[in-house]
Amino acid sequence: IGSYRNESSAAAASDSASQAPPPAEKFEYQAEVSRLMDLIVNSLYSNKEVFLRELISNASDALDKLRYLSVTNPELSKDAADLDIRIYADKENGVITLTDSGIGMTRQELVDCLGTIAQSGTAKFLKALKDNKDAGGDNNLIGQFGVGFYSAFLVADRVTVSTKSPKSDKQYVWEGEADSSSYTIKEETDPQLIIPRGTRIALHLKRDDKGFADPERIQKLVKNYSQFVSFPIYTWQEKG
Ligand code: ADP
Ligand code: MG
Repeated sequence: IGSYRNESSAAAASDSASQAPPPAEKFEYQAEVSRLMDLIVNSLYSNKEVFLRELISNASDALDKLRYLSVTNPELSKDAADLDIRIYADKENGVITLTDSGIGMTRQELVDCLGTIAQSGTAKFLKALKDNKDAGGDNNLIGQFGVGFYSAFLVADRVTVSTKSPKSDKQYVWEGEADSSSYTIKEETDPQLIIPRGTRIALHLKRDDKGFADPERIQKLVKNYSQFVSFPIYTWQEKG
């Protein structure tokens, strides 16, 4: 009881203290997500580049949602007219950044979408996994069902999602690490990273996967997927 008292008085003090943004808040993944993350992180799946297809497909969905909602609510797209996807490969630091100007996520949506399993594909994946326990293979299943957003952890050991929804006046940052059962959410405070709307995902690549942060490699992969995407995809790099 004593410790509860301390916590609440500390919280009250910081509430009234200043304009400083609240500290990052920690959340535990839903058990299924933890299981899925374990599988992804430890899998010997060799087709790791599917992460890019999954993230581009999410970006495309987010742009579709924005475009659809803008028809009845033009206000939504007033801040940034271009609906596109930008991929930046930072070879030197081994970071890939994927930005879309789509619908973004509110703080609650971050918790609902990136902390629990809502999507049917991933649920099917987990079910198939259960049914095929000895069939040898999360390896085939990952490719067959796709594991959505979490496929980022095939290549990244840290993923940062900074996102701004038109429904919220704040931009939030979700951050997860490959071998952790929890993630954090905080307000975006870096003025350089503030976006008018949409989502910016940074993949801090695993040591052995830094080779993906190569603009030419990214471009080649994007070419394969972009035929299914109705928005422009730009890849760029710092001039060397
Ligand atoms: P699915 O795309 O099949 O729903 P994912 O695991 O790929 O499953 O993504 C989970 C959810 O996270 C999406 O349904 C969406 O609500 C949210 N999400 C992921 N990426 C983005 C993004 N770039 N912009 C907005 N929402 C996103
Ligand atoms: Mg998806």
